[in-house]
Amino acid sequence: MTQAQGTLGQNWRAARPPVAGVHVDSAACSRQSVAVINASAEHARHEAEVGGYVAAEAASPVLEAGRAAVRALAGMSDADVVFTTGSNNALDILLDDWAGERSLACLPGEFGPNLMIMARHGFEIRELPVDGFGRLDLDALGAFLASNPPALVHFTMLGSHSGVVQPVHDMVAACRGHGIPLIVDAAQGFGHLDCAGIGADAFYSSSRKWTAGPRGVGMLATRPGLLSEPTQQRIGHTEANVGLHVGLSVALGEYMAAGPEHVQARLREVGAATRTALAGARGWTVLERVEEPSAITTLRPPDGADPMAVRARLIAEHSVVTTYLGPERAPREMTHPALRVSPHVDVTDADLESLVEALAAATR
Ligand SMILES: *Cc1c(COP(=O)(O)O)cnc(C)c1O
Repeated sequence: MTQAQGTLGQNWRAARPPVAGVHVDSAACSRQSVAVINASAEHARHEAEVGGYVAAEAASPVLEAGRAAVRALAGMSDADVVFTTGSNNALDILLDDWAGERSLACLPGEFGPNLMIMARHGFEIRELPVDGFGRLDLDALGAFLASNPPALVHFTMLGSHSGVVQPVHDMVAACRGHGIPLIVDAAQGFGHLDCAGIGADAFYSSSRKWTAGPRGVGMLATRPGLLSEPTQQRIGHTEANVGLHVGLSVALGEYMAAGPEHVQARLREVGAATRTALAGARGWTVLERVEEPSAITTLRPPDGADPMAVRARLIAEHSVVTTYLGPERAPREMTHPALRVSPHVDVTDADLESLVEALAAATR
């Protein structure tokens, strides 16, 4: 990155508490802004003053603005949107409610915990065809869907174990063409990639990742009528931390104000800059193409290096926060552990230099 972080990155950083070291772990959990932290805390204070249920009613315009942002960003203008406790919670709600045949197609790189939820609900899993990068193979897709159509497709538009961006729009078109309902896991895609044109039957994400909201919250958008009446009633009345829903709604407001297209463009730039910087890191191999349009970079360790130990040393000795990726994260695709680097829009050239130096020092 020859350019500095730019106004967007400077504003993003200035809106947050000072960072202790180098935080390149947004795919796990981004840093919340001071306004988001305060909004959640102020709601808790309001609950103590006027009562939890009265405070929730008073917060309803903020929460409705949050739901409207989800509809706009997911390209689902008439969707029912509910706040969840996270992405896995959303998938659990969807599959629990499913009344049709229990078969589903997903990518071989499907997120491990998702596979467990699918298995728990008795779904037979079929693997979508992919190329050597684990990317959906569009040439083979039509025949796959026609020959043995699954009852539904679950599509993770960006994985947790890889920065390879999946062609979600082609998947949407193919599912429409074959009349197969489509669930999109946007845990890594939401706030990161352009989702506005997707228009799936169901779309879910987490708050803490690229939208930088509080932990322990997420959102589920469904086409009206997809969920049964009893499920709708149940999820509408689940006890929840409303303060965190307020925080998430404020985070979505900040994201809209920053400009989704600007954030997304900057994240593409960040991904390319990170992979370029890490190409020189001693012994480690960047698994994505430099220009892959995401801000997730995956590194394969040199022989003898243990990414779990390296991650721990990076934190303890260099204050650099990355993610360890064990094969259980994508058990049908990953064969070796890896290290994930996922900076947000505020990363600087100096941060990336520190990261590369720290990685060299921590690899032994
Ligand atoms: C993080 C993640 C999830 C799970 O999200 P939670 O909010 O922790 O339940 C699901 N899918 C993908 C691709 C993820 O990265």
